[in-house]
Amino acid sequence: MSLRSQPLAPATRVVAAGRPPREPGASVGPAVEFTSTFVAGGECAYARFANPTWTAFEEAVGSLEGGSALAYASGLAAIAAVTGTVPHGGTVLAPRHCYNGTGALLEQLQGAGRLVLRRADIADTAAFIDAMDHVDLVFLESPTNPMLEVADLPTLAKAARESGIRTVCDNTFATPLLQRPLDLGVDVVVHSATKYLSGHSDLLLGVLVTRSEDLRDHLHTARTLGGAIPGPMEAWLALRGLRTLHLRFERACANAAELAARLVDHPAVARVRYPGFGAMLAIDVRDGREAAQAVEQSVQLWLPATSLGGVESMIERRRRQPGEPVTVPQELLRLSVGVEDVEDLWRDLDAALSSSRAS
Ligand SMILES: *Cc1c(COP(=O)(O)O)cnc(C)c1O
Repeated sequence: MSLRSQPLAPATRVVAAGRPPREPGASVGPAVEFTSTFVAGGECAYARFANPTWTAFEEAVGSLEGGSALAYASGLAAIAAVTGTVPHGGTVLAPRHCYNGTGALLEQLQGAGRLVLRRADIADTAAFIDAMDHVDLVFLESPTNPMLEVADLPTLAKAARESGIRTVCDNTFATPLLQRPLDLGVDVVVHSATKYLSGHSDLLLGVLVTRSEDLRDHLHTARTLGGAIPGPMEAWLALRGLRTLHLRFERACANAAELAARLVDHPAVARVRYPGFGAMLAIDVRDGREAAQAVEQSVQLWLPATSLGGVESMIERRRRQPGEPVTVPQELLRLSVGVEDVEDLWRDLDAALSSSRAS
C-alpha cells in the first residue's frame, strides 16, 4: 500500500514519505546517488532524466502537496519551467507584489517579446479576476513576498478554471502544512525548497507539483531537455531538512505570532504586516528608510541577509533590492522568524528598534 493512499497526517508524511522500500538490510533513508549515468536496462538511464535521490525528495513533497512533484535546481528554475508552458506571445497575470525574482523573470521575458505581463493586486479578488481577461497563465502567490497580502485562492482558482486558464501558486511562505493549493483548485504548486522545506539556509532547490499527468510529463521532458536539474546532494540535504519541517515550522510560527503581537505596540513601528499565520512578517519602521537601515545594521542575533525560511531569523529592508516594486515602502523590514528562543529574538529586535528612534 503506498503512503499516498493512506490517510496520514501531514506531520507523519513529513517523516515517512520518500523512504526506500522496507526490505531486510535496506537503509532507512535514501543514499546520495552520485552518478552521471546508470548501467543500461534499469529504471534510470542517464542522470539528467532522473536520479533516485531526487525521486525520494519528489515523493515526499508530492505526498505533502497531494500531487506529483518534479525537482529543479532552484525555485526560480521551477518558476521558469512552468512559465515555459505559456504559448509564444501569450499573457501572464501576476500579483502586483510577489517574489521579486518572479517579477524580474517575467519582465525580462516580456522585454524579449516572449510573453506579455499583466499585474494586478492579488488581495483585491474582483480586480484580479477582471485582469484574467485573455490570459494564458495566472501566477498566484499567497501570502505575498514581502507585503504579506493574502489571496482568496479558491475563488481565484475557480474563476481561472472557468475561463480555461492554468493557475500556478507559489506556496513557499505557507508551506503544505498551512495551505494545499491543489486542494483549493490550483493546477500547479511551486516552492522555493531553498526556504522552509529544506529549512537550513544551506542549499538552493525548487519544486513543481501538479495532479495533471499530461502536464507532469510535459514538464519532465522540458526539464530533461532544458537541463535545469538539481544536484543529488541538494536533493538529499533538502529531504533531510524536510523531515523536521513540522517541528521547525510550528516553533517559527509561534515565535512570529508572539513577535507580531508585541511589535504592534512598539513605538518605533508604524505598521505590522502579519497575515495571522506563518512565520513571515514585515514591519514599517516609523522613522523611515534610514531608521529601517539602522535597525538592519544594529541587530546582533537576527541575520541581515536576503532569504527566509531557515532555522535562523533573518531581517531585510527589501527596497535595498533594485528589483523590488516602488509600492513596497522604503521603510519596510521583512522578518523571517526562525526557531530561536523568542525572548532572545525580541530583546535583540526591541533594542535595535529603540535605538533607531533615538538616532
Ligand atoms: C526565494 C523565493 C523564490 C525563488 O527561489 P530560489 O530557490 O531562490 O530560486 C521564489 N518564490 C519565493 C516566494 C521565494 O521566497
